[in-house]
Amino acid sequence: MNGSLHHVGEVAPPSSSGVEVIIVGCGFGGLACAIECRRKGHHVIVLERMPTFRVLGDVISFGPNAGRIFARWGLHDKLWPICRHADKLVIHNYMGEVVREQPIQFPLYGAYEYSGHRAEIHEAVYEYALSLGIDIRFGHNVESYQEDPSRGKASVTVNGKTIEADIVVAADGVKSRARQYVLGYNDQPKSSGYSVYRAWFDAKEQGVGSDPNTDFLTKDGDAYQCWIGRDVHFICSSLQGGNTVSWVITHRDDFEVTDSWSFPGNMEDVLNIVDDWDPRCAAVLSKAPSCIDWKLITHDPLPTWVSSQGRVVLLGDAAHPFLPTSRHPRRLKTVLRLL
Ligand SMILES: Cc1cc2nc3c(=O)[nH]c(=O)nc-3n(C[C@H](O)[C@H](O)[C@H](O)COP(=O)(O)OP(=O)(O)OC[C@H]3O[C@@H](n4cnc5c(N)ncnc54)[C@H](O)[C@@H]3O)c2cc1C
Repeated sequence: MNGSLHHVGEVAPPSSSGVEVIIVGCGFGGLACAIECRRKGHHVIVLERMPTFRVLGDVISFGPNAGRIFARWGLHDKLWPICRHADKLVIHNYMGEVVREQPIQFPLYGAYEYSGHRAEIHEAVYEYALSLGIDIRFGHNVESYQEDPSRGKASVTVNGKTIEADIVVAADGVKSRARQYVLGYNDQPKSSGYSVYRAWFDAKEQGVGSDPNTDFLTKDGDAYQCWIGRDVHFICSSLQGGNTVSWVITHRDDFEVTDSWSFPGNMEDVLNIVDDWDPRCAAVLSKAPSCIDWKLITHDPLPTWVSSQGRVVLLGDAAHPFLPTSRHPRRLKTVLRLL
């Protein structure tokens, strides 16, 4: 078949299990799956629709469960220096009263949590995947999925060409095209009713250390603080030894789901949210030279992640979109009880 793994000239490595895997999407989900498949001796191709590897996003956090996997791949020494090292999360109500100081222990359960720039962490994982010899093909926008149960094969179509393997893993994100194939109906992503203004900037350039309302972020290395009000939470932190600042502010927003990841945010709207809040909030928010307005998209829980013929499987946001607001449900529940 045109484009079959064997027909495009790849030689399976000596440790090959003989299993051929196509992975759609070069996000964290697709790359992690590719790396683990390769480590088990499977033959892997990753197909990504973006034209090249692009470093995108701002802050992202991986808890110790994911951190354990990064460590297994030997990435700790690379990731830890570029991540946040705060030893506690200070939680305030919107007036600025401290409601809880939550110690942060690292390592926790035998592994580290990594909070840093999505692009830097993504690049480290991408480079590790390349070092394993994984074949990553950019500019490959997968148009359709097929299965041939009689031959035990699955395939995808890209630019009119078919590429075949034993299994196809679709890690194509929250707006997954594969989801319709696997479910047999169109499960449209929808608005969660929330959106996040977010920013990432250099602390020194923006004068964070010289403003008495913001110097708490930089004077003792990395800091991590949060303010909670009705339907809003504002989290700010410094990373990389207090040199970089990142903030996110979640707020209600009924928007249409469109296809952009990064709408520019309007700083006036951002500051309106914290109008009558602890003045430190407006001070930190206004230090950002710009921000984006990141719409939080969700969809209904899926009845299955695996196609009826068993050879196309959904992974990551394609299967279960992850809302940053639900990241620490237990921690937030405790806080809400305290408010
Ligand atoms: C551009 C971008 C920026 C982000 N920034 C942040 C951030 O700053 N902080 C944060 O917490 N989270 C961010 N996220 C979300 C976070 O990375 C994901 O929620 C999480 O890592 C789950 O990853 P995933 O691999 O399942 O999906 P994703 O990270 O969404 O990756 C899906 C990949 O599949 C590719 N793809 C989609 N359709 C096709 C197709 N038909 N053919 C081939 N390839 C396809 C996409 O281009 C994308 O690279 C961002 C996601 C993206 C895509």
